[in-house]
Amino acid sequence: MAEQHSSYAFATRALHVGQDSAQWKSRAVVPPIVMATTFAQFEPAVTARFEYGRSGNPTRNSLELCMASLDKAKHSLIFSSGVACEVNITHLLQAGGHIITDTQVYCGIDRYFRKCASKFDLTIDYVDFCDLNQVAKAAESNLQRGSKSGLVWLESPTNPLLKVTDIRAVTSTLKNINPNVIIAIDNTFMSPYFQSPLELGVDLVMTSITKYVNGHSDVVMGSISTNRTELYDRLKYLQNAIGAVPSPIDCFMVNRSIKTLALRMEKHQKNAMAVALFLESHPLVKRVLYLGLESHPQHQLVLKQCKGFTGMIAAYLEGTLETMCKFLSYLKIFTLGESLGAVESLIELPAIMTHEMMGQWARDKIGISDTLVRISIGVEDVDDLIGDLDQALKRSQPTN
Ligand SMILES: *Cc1c(COP(=O)(O)O)cnc(C)c1O
Repeated sequence: MAEQHSSYAFATRALHVGQDSAQWKSRAVVPPIVMATTFAQFEPAVTARFEYGRSGNPTRNSLELCMASLDKAKHSLIFSSGVACEVNITHLLQAGGHIITDTQVYCGIDRYFRKCASKFDLTIDYVDFCDLNQVAKAAESNLQRGSKSGLVWLESPTNPLLKVTDIRAVTSTLKNINPNVIIAIDNTFMSPYFQSPLELGVDLVMTSITKYVNGHSDVVMGSISTNRTELYDRLKYLQNAIGAVPSPIDCFMVNRSIKTLALRMEKHQKNAMAVALFLESHPLVKRVLYLGLESHPQHQLVLKQCKGFTGMIAAYLEGTLETMCKFLSYLKIFTLGESLGAVESLIELPAIMTHEMMGQWARDKIGISDTLVRISIGVEDVDDLIGDLDQALKRSQPTN
């Protein structure tokens, strides 16, 4: 409505003047934040592409195009969290379906499978994806159930123990036995910068954007990328039908963050390598797990299937739970907190923080002990990071 429409009353002008939806063709260099929840239609059901904010939004669409490209995918869909992606993927299954996942699958993902999705009579088989015999057996039992829409949920490397799956070997074993199985992978720890699982036979790549892709500890979000258009169509339907979509402001924030993903990942990796070497040589550290160390049991596989080592370190320290708590309290630069993949360095004790919900027995089975710390190396100056760890380790050493 043009400004000259002064014949309208105050309340009408307050709503309509300056708001004409036809004017937005600004050629702004940065995708605008489109907060509109509805889009004016030319005629009933004739739209300029968008109709309602849940089914599609221009700010979200910019991010979906960018994420698809980084994942080397035809399609990408953005959801309100990483877990929301998992929920939508699980909805691809029929009731009575069958899920195969790793004994080390991230417990925040497993919680939904076990506690929520189980009411749809889904069966879950836990295997060690490093053992192809176990994988083949599970795939056969999946077939015998007559389940045409089995789901496999991979995670590589795992959170927090950094176990690596030979993605190509596992996907070809699975597809040889059951070509209809849908294989998804959680690519959160590597981000699309260091790992492209669609090139290794996976159908769906899930990323918790909350972590490296956004990287600034201020957005919770997730993405699913795929080259299979029929799966994309079904997921796009579910995205709208289930409704777990992010705010356009959050999409704007990630559109901005993603521009420095490559720079950040290089720095995370460089810093993490130096910290891992420091920890490995430290007398108060029993064992360090880092993809870039030759001592990592699957270092050769990492060199084969990944383009880098990312910024995550797991380390077993000498001492007890009490020593760990002291050590963490002495750190000055590292933030004690959950989450990972941020520009600031984060550290946490999985046994009583992120992985507490697993229970002691399940933690012991896979090796999450009270003296395991998970470290997410940020982009600070690396000498300051090493100095901080060094002073905290020294101070927490039991005096004997
Ligand atoms: C954080 C995380 C998730 C869950 O993502 P949200 O965005 O928190 O829902 C899934 N997998 C891994 C490996 C994670 O670290």
